[in-house]
Amino acid sequence: MPRDLRALPKANLHLHLTGSMRPSTAAELAAHYDLPPLPAVPIEPGVVHGWDAFQARYDTARAAVRSSDDIARVVREAVEQDGADGVGWTELQVDPTAYAGWLGSLEAVVEALLDAARDLPVGVILAASWGADPEHAERIARIAVKYAPEGVLGFGLSNDERRGQVRAFVPAFRLVAEAGLARVPHAGFYAGAWHVRECVELLGATRIGHGLTAIQDPSVVALLAERQVALEVCPTSYPPFGVTPAPEVLPALLADGVPVALATDDPLLFGVGMVGQYEVARQVCSDAGLAAIAATSVRASNAPDLLKRRLLDGIQSWLGE
Ligand SMILES: [Zn+2]
Repeated sequence: MPRDLRALPKANLHLHLTGSMRPSTAAELAAHYDLPPLPAVPIEPGVVHGWDAFQARYDTARAAVRSSDDIARVVREAVEQDGADGVGWTELQVDPTAYAGWLGSLEAVVEALLDAARDLPVGVILAASWGADPEHAERIARIAVKYAPEGVLGFGLSNDERRGQVRAFVPAFRLVAEAGLARVPHAGFYAGAWHVRECVELLGATRIGHGLTAIQDPSVVALLAERQVALEVCPTSYPPFGVTPAPEVLPALLADGVPVALATDDPLLFGVGMVGQYEVARQVCSDAGLAAIAATSVRASNAPDLLKRRLLDGIQSWLGE
């Protein structure tokens, strides 16, 4: 009998607010606001999509999240969904920009998120888009710092990395670094290993969203291993875009000492939760390897120390050690 992946304690370090929605919740909220139903989700298997097709679906789903009650519901359900898959700690990444129009301001979105997250095993990471004006990114970074005492854990850059220049975001990342917050840009999804290097060296990334193209350059792999910058690998996010599939590169990254955590990214669009991500990795990893990945996800998280210890103990028990 293979070990039950649901029983393996783990952290989900890469999850977007809208993308975390249950399809039924997305449909209900769309109906509530008299919006057209979502286009077919999840993304069709076996079809390679351009980024724009994905973004259009994402934007359609996001248009149905309009109030602090909606945000509270989505956060609560994301934690429930993750919890059912053995996730003991979730980090939700949110670009407040698109919701600010409905809630009144960027700050109001952040306050709604923090209210929703209170007393749940979930942390909030703010993000700007790679396509954003760097000054806007700086504004969000400043808000991340302002709300750090209330629970904001870090700052990231999401969306298609080809839309921005790494160097332009240095000031935003400097602000969050000075405040000691996590720096978690998406990188190395489409762009090559150089992009991962620049995010580590110029932005001081403490983790990288995706980053699988690092494998193209041994010196970038070595950099990640040396600085212990974890990759948030989301196995079901790559085939729909025809980029490097995770099972092809995971064994080499792990063998070279790169910390790897598995995460879900956008279950609403890809149709797969946390256990499904570990199932993909199981094609190339032993149970000991999967336990090591789960342990990395916990160590690379911003979870409270006591919770981290409990999850790490649970991982050892899962392996029977
Ligand atoms: Zn993402």
